[in-house]
Amino acid sequence: MALEESAPASNFIANIIAADNASGKWDGRVVTRFPPEPNGYLHIGHAKSICLNFGLAADNQGTCHLRFDDTNPAKEEQEYLDSIIADVKWLGFDWGEHLYYASDYFEQLYEFALKLISEGKAYVDDLSAEEIRAHRGTLTRPGQNSPYRERSVDENLDLFERMKAGEFDEGSRVLRAKIDMAHPNMVMRDPTLYRIRKMAHHRTGDAWVIYPMYDFTHCLSDSIERITHSICTLEFEDNRALYDWVLDQLEVYHPQQIEFARLNLEFTMMSKRKLLELVNEGHVEGWDDPRMPTLIGMRRRGFTPESIRLFCERIGVGKKSSWIDMYWLEKAVRDDLNTKAPRVMGVLDPLKLVIDNYPEGRVEEFECPYYPDDPPAMGTRPVPFSRELYVERDDFMEEPYKKFWRLAPGQEVRLRWAYYVTCTEVVKDDAGEVKEVHCTYDPESKGGGTPDGRRVKGTIHWISAAHAIPAEVRLYDRLFSVANPGGHKDKDYREFLNPDSLMVMPNARLEPSLGSANIDTRYQFERRGYFCLDAKDTTAEKPVFNRIVTLRDSWAKILEQQKREEARRKREARKKKKKKK
Ligand code: ATP
Ligand code: MG
Repeated sequence: MALEESAPASNFIANIIAADNASGKWDGRVVTRFPPEPNGYLHIGHAKSICLNFGLAADNQGTCHLRFDDTNPAKEEQEYLDSIIADVKWLGFDWGEHLYYASDYFEQLYEFALKLISEGKAYVDDLSAEEIRAHRGTLTRPGQNSPYRERSVDENLDLFERMKAGEFDEGSRVLRAKIDMAHPNMVMRDPTLYRIRKMAHHRTGDAWVIYPMYDFTHCLSDSIERITHSICTLEFEDNRALYDWVLDQLEVYHPQQIEFARLNLEFTMMSKRKLLELVNEGHVEGWDDPRMPTLIGMRRRGFTPESIRLFCERIGVGKKSSWIDMYWLEKAVRDDLNTKAPRVMGVLDPLKLVIDNYPEGRVEEFECPYYPDDPPAMGTRPVPFSRELYVERDDFMEEPYKKFWRLAPGQEVRLRWAYYVTCTEVVKDDAGEVKEVHCTYDPESKGGGTPDGRRVKGTIHWISAAHAIPAEVRLYDRLFSVANPGGHKDKDYREFLNPDSLMVMPNARLEPSLGSANIDTRYQFERRGYFCLDAKDTTAEKPVFNRIVTLRDSWAKILEQQKREEARRKREARKKKKKKK
């Protein structure tokens, strides 16, 4: 999908609100809410909803509530609740005193249910879940009434009170709305409002054994909180009829439900159930694994809240479901970090480089700007230079291809900020692996130029071996190797896990200034991408750095490479076959 980088988010909901403000529909009030169920960690899809709800409130001097939709004791936990609070705060949003729990409304909801029953608009049904499903009909066939549908109000009141008192087993009875079993909208075919769950709730403990369903709870919670615009994702379009029905029947304050298209992001997944499977089955390290689309994972990886907000603003809000290329998320991170991240040098895969004509024991210090585009903006740091350096292994080629301008026998290259060096000798170990590269340097080229104006095409980064800080660096790639891992009918999404999504560089060498790296600072390692300290695994002995994102979009190139590699393998296989014959 193509996105306009600088276009303001086109937002049909903002237009609705503007019209409502103009007409005085809500007396100029704007009250939205973000209503997560505490059954998992928040992900980038939730961020879209958070930015939208809090953003609309802020743009209209309104308020946005954080409400836990905690009606299912089976899946909800305090751990999730705490993480959601932390994540929304981290994203930069503030609900003030407006933190609410649907479970705080259980008593009120029960009273509302009694009212519906008293007015003949709800009944206790003894059918099993399976029977209810069988009675429901299909899109083309109307459903059938339950044999219990015509119970008297008194009998319904009695049974419902006894459900609450714990007299009946789980699954033996439910409370249903009495609407229309032939309704063209399946949601309206006598939906379940309450079920029996003999399970402790993380907030109400053992107080309740009946729990209200989402469709009953949500609209009434919105009503109780006097929400004006109840914004949800498109899957709830059919549920709007029920949202309106409940509020109309009870004649209570009635917010407007508005649906928008959820975020689908390529090469990852948004299903909380599947993300939980990834965690439980050990495919990732945890909810905070830096490859996860969770906010806690992205935060650990080094994404800034600003970059996520920028991404959400750019993707906009629409009515049509669409897929967003991961490129846009990474682009937002690059755009945000470009002006913020100090530039430093780090060698991820070190190869020793010895400058034979540089005096042993001598150390020079180069004062290098953190931000070469605008040196005063971030200042400078001293970078020591000496006879033995580390350079990147892939910056050397013994037999270079045609336009390889970096280190190769006889070739001259610029060491960033320092000198020109020319490769004179290659030392290999017994296995034939290059162990060391020897060079001579041109003392006249200090600072990266020469009096004779001689030009070199390549510039590489380096670290003085004696001053280097050993570190572990972790490089991340897409968690899945296909755009829509959950969308393959006869294949499990696990089959598409990218085996190369984590690459560990255990022997990286970093410039000394990173010895006092700040946990909150994101750095650009020149030519290698944006990095930050891993808050979890870094120790006093060894820093661990995460790569947040590469400098350029490398995925397009990787796909191309894969295709070429595949073609080459096929060619070789064909050749072998021929030979055999
Ligand atoms: P569940 O299947 O558990 O309901 P959920 O992802 O809908 O999963 P909720 O906790 O109900 O989780 O979501 C809270 C809010 O975030 C809801 O209003 C939901 O519409 C919104 N939301 C969830 N996923 C996305 C997404 N991919 N894009 C935009 N909004 C989302
Ligand atoms: Mg939901």
